[in-house]
Amino acid sequence: MSFYILPPAMLGILGGGQLASMFTIAAKTMGYGVTVLDPDPGAPAGCLADVHLCAPFDDPQALKTLACCQAVTTEFENVSAESMRWLAKHTVVSPSGECVAIAQDREKEKSWIKKAGLDTVPYRMIYSTADLHADCSAFLPGILKTATLGYDGKGQIVVNTQEELLAAYKQLQQARCILEKKVDLRAEISVVVARLNQQQILCFPAAENQHHRGILAYSLVPARLPDELQHQAQYMAKQLANAMDYTGVMAVEMFVVGEKMQLVVNEIAPRPHNSGHYTLDACTANQFEQQVRLMCGLPPAAIDMITPCCMANILGDVWPVQGEPDWSIILAHQTTKLHLYGKKQARIGRKMGHFTVLAESSSQAWQEALAISDALMKK
Ligand code: ADP
Ligand code: MG
Repeated sequence: MSFYILPPAMLGILGGGQLASMFTIAAKTMGYGVTVLDPDPGAPAGCLADVHLCAPFDDPQALKTLACCQAVTTEFENVSAESMRWLAKHTVVSPSGECVAIAQDREKEKSWIKKAGLDTVPYRMIYSTADLHADCSAFLPGILKTATLGYDGKGQIVVNTQEELLAAYKQLQQARCILEKKVDLRAEISVVVARLNQQQILCFPAAENQHHRGILAYSLVPARLPDELQHQAQYMAKQLANAMDYTGVMAVEMFVVGEKMQLVVNEIAPRPHNSGHYTLDACTANQFEQQVRLMCGLPPAAIDMITPCCMANILGDVWPVQGEPDWSIILAHQTTKLHLYGKKQARIGRKMGHFTVLAESSSQAWQEALAISDALMKK
């Protein structure tokens, strides 16, 4: 017997950024109401939702109001797992506080990846300076990352020597860190998986991701990698979601390593992912629609890819000192879709929007996306 939460039920979301905005649009399209909790009065999803609770994420009154929603989800992993557990006592919460707690901590995350029978990069946990005096040469050159709160390449430093490692540890000012060996990356891919239960689980096609300065720049779909490897990546994403008994949308970032093109899991995000934005324009179902469906106990919508594409992020970097970038560069294209998040302030490195180029092949779409990004930057 399944129990569906149906429109016009009120759905709640922790966080009001761009992921919450796209969630809100999907939910409202299907006839649901949306309540957003975000302390920022200018949060992009705030003005799209029916209700914007403008309060801290652990505000008891706001959480009480959110608990009156028929189901609650989150747009980011750094929400307190405690708040999610409290909410779960009063309403349907997905993903679970336990799953969010795994994704917000690189140490827990790595041990769950291994528990699911999957590979990670070689790593060592660092709990104090004493751990750095032990021989770390097996992990050098490496990347020292804080165990929690890292995103878009923040909270991580590349280290080549033991001395650099000590200096980096001091600089990060976090007792608990992880030292990862820097692996020979041949490609980076990610898979967004939508899971209700062991039977109801579907993956979107793998995206091939290119990062610039630690921030996702382009996602090419289909990835320019052997089909077999892509299917293996989807299989691994499902395996991980099953091991965690995950409910909702989860993204799994993977590295393709070395000549043997070995697939290792980098990290997971307990929510829709930037690399899954292409699904808005290039698939029959998108990742936000899946988030709505799964939190409501509905099976994931069937996924078919309509066209090859390339998604490109638009960062605050392309804003001129005064005014707006020249959007005609994107909008004059008949096969390019623009998504702006409505953020009031543009800053270097801040994700302000994205566009998706649809083409005959992902390589062609990528070439066009590069040219558009270039033109935006020059204006
Ligand atoms: P974030 O939480 O900031 O996304 P990631 O762990 O995903 O942090 O790292 C960001 C990027 O840095 C990755 O997408 C990859 O390009 C590079 N990177 C991270 N870890 C490694 C590693 N062990 N070896 C090589 N490159 C890495
Ligand atoms: Mg990452």
